[in-house]
Amino acid sequence: MQRFYATNMLPWTNPLASYLELKPEIDVAVQRVLQSGQYISGHEVEAFEQAWASYCGASYAIGVSSGTDTLRVALLACGIGPRDEVITVAHTAVATVAAIASIGAVPVMIDVDYRTWTMDCMQIEPAITEKTKAIIPVHLYGNPTHMEVLLRIAKKYNLRVIEDCAQAHGAKLLGMHVGTLGDAGAFSHYPTKNLGAMGDAGSIITNDSAIALRARRIRQYGTDDNRVSHILGFNARMDEIQAAVLLVKLPYLDGWNDRRCKIAQTYYRALCDRFDFQVTHGQSAHHLLVVRTMKRDKLAEHLKYRGIATSIHYPIPVHLQAPYHSGQRLPITEQLCKEIITLPLYPQMTDGEVEQVIDACLDFKA
Ligand SMILES: *Cc1c(COP(=O)(O)O)cnc(C)c1O
Repeated sequence: MQRFYATNMLPWTNPLASYLELKPEIDVAVQRVLQSGQYISGHEVEAFEQAWASYCGASYAIGVSSGTDTLRVALLACGIGPRDEVITVAHTAVATVAAIASIGAVPVMIDVDYRTWTMDCMQIEPAITEKTKAIIPVHLYGNPTHMEVLLRIAKKYNLRVIEDCAQAHGAKLLGMHVGTLGDAGAFSHYPTKNLGAMGDAGSIITNDSAIALRARRIRQYGTDDNRVSHILGFNARMDEIQAAVLLVKLPYLDGWNDRRCKIAQTYYRALCDRFDFQVTHGQSAHHLLVVRTMKRDKLAEHLKYRGIATSIHYPIPVHLQAPYHSGQRLPITEQLCKEIITLPLYPQMTDGEVEQVIDACLDFKA
């Protein structure tokens, strides 16, 4: 089981802290839902969809049951199906690739850029075949992918683009929110994400009315408001309690992201001589503070001894994991996975706690 708190260690993420910061408001919102008698498909989900679409500058938002399900629903809503190839990265949460495979489509994983640690868009064109139907860039750790290049290639080959924005709520590129650059944006509201619920939740944003309509149907058995089915679907609804919590948290997202950015800058200034940092492109949402060092395992040990928890996102690249293994090699992804470590970063972290981590890192002599 993953634990982020309830130990005497400084955690690397802290979903409890965002609840405690807003406890009175969240408790009222949850009570409102409990008293309403409407627990699924009610006003809270509708209100969140409107507020979220408006925040992102998108025409439509669709509440979904999880980040993984948003990718599945978005793929199906874009007309992707069995045996279609979808280009993505291996340096991501397994969920990205699992979502593609779960609808019978074929994930084609390419390498990441050695500076931005997001999709190396120069590798897209060589990976395209007559079966390629879509690209899923992942805005990893909150850092927008180089969409300028990606969108040009997608247009040339008539490919759909679904942005995996699970780690990038509020991130921007070219003055636009991520998720509005491609055909659809897929967000996770898993509790530790920048805009996290208190259970599983996700959302799709799009400016395309046809994708929005299909996504709305697919998330509820493929049916319309009259319970008539038009398209294959399943159950991928967001529930009212999650929507109510997200509505409370949304007005705080920008402030929280500013705080994440300040903490990330403090880390960078203090530690850029010691570690490699992700080179940002556009405005990152700073979901995770990941640094790269050859002494990763020793550093983790040292920090643990100093009462500081760390993590690794991700320890084994997806193309080397059993269900997805094909013998393919992705050198930059594989090297990164051996050298990255996630340091504590969450908006409620105090300056003193940031200093504590920095001091411990400066003390580290491998
Ligand atoms: C969290 C995450 C997901 C999956 O979201 P769930 O809500 O856990 O299903 C997908 N992609 C990325 C990049 C993620 O970080």
